[in-house]
Amino acid sequence: MLERAPAHDALPCLFCGQPERAEMFEVWGHEFMLHTCCEGLHEQIVLDMNDDPEWARHFIRSIGIEEICGQQLRRVADDGCCGLVLDWQLRFKPIAANSVRRFIGLHHAHCGIPVTWRFHNAVINGATLIGVAVVGNPVAPALMGRGILEVNRLCIRRDVPSALRWNAASMLYGWCAREAQRRGWRKIITYTRADEPGTSLEAAGWTREASVRGRGWHSARRRRSNRNSWIEKVRWSRTFTASTAPARNHERNAGPCATSVLTEWMTDTSVSGWPPA
Ligand SMILES: [Zn+2]
Ligand SMILES: [Zn+2]
Repeated sequence: MLERAPAHDALPCLFCGQPERAEMFEVWGHEFMLHTCCEGLHEQIVLDMNDDPEWARHFIRSIGIEEICGQQLRRVADDGCCGLVLDWQLRFKPIAANSVRRFIGLHHAHCGIPVTWRFHNAVINGATLIGVAVVGNPVAPALMGRGILEVNRLCIRRDVPSALRWNAASMLYGWCAREAQRRGWRKIITYTRADEPGTSLEAAGWTREASVRGRGWHSARRRRSNRNSWIEKVRWSRTFTASTAPARNHERNAGPCATSVLTEWMTDTSVSGWPPA
């Protein structure tokens, strides 16, 4: 339990007439409980916070949550149903390869759990693991041995309030590119389904490179029925040259699966085929 003493002598409460008191009583994960002088003030504060998340953030900060928790608050956000959640600043967190496999198995099993790769990273919100990115060699044989890496998986969990995963995919795509560049690779690529907007990639400074047909499946459950169907994909890339523009940091939400698995490949179709008519 985390408590905080009142900072100063307060004005009388409009509801109970006692010195007004509103303190952070308890914080656990993304939830919190306030302690107030009376029920009336508590109800009013909750109403005000729901009306105005920006005010809520200032208020929650003013009662010392960042000092209490040792973390920076990004927002106080609607949890998508009936309450407010503490949305902390996203951070990278080094995790073990087995934790990456477990995360993908739990949240994106349909993408297939990768066996081996070159490097990975994870993003957390508070103590909650939000997403992982796995970077390895290109899956398409034609792209191997050319100084190119591929984001093989980028999985963002969907079982948390959407506010908590805000910008997580862009942050991971941006990191993958910086890390590939730092390690001396020439280029990094990844794929999205043709019907996904790719806004997280655009926000991270990636560009559409080609329209691609791949034979494969996105859902293990549909494996059999999809086995012989071709799916349209978009290949995205960042090439590392002196003129490479720095990534923009706009907010984007990822699609359900930013990267999905292709198991067999056709020859890439021409870049000039993009965008489709
Ligand atoms: Zn009161
Ligand atoms: Zn996935």
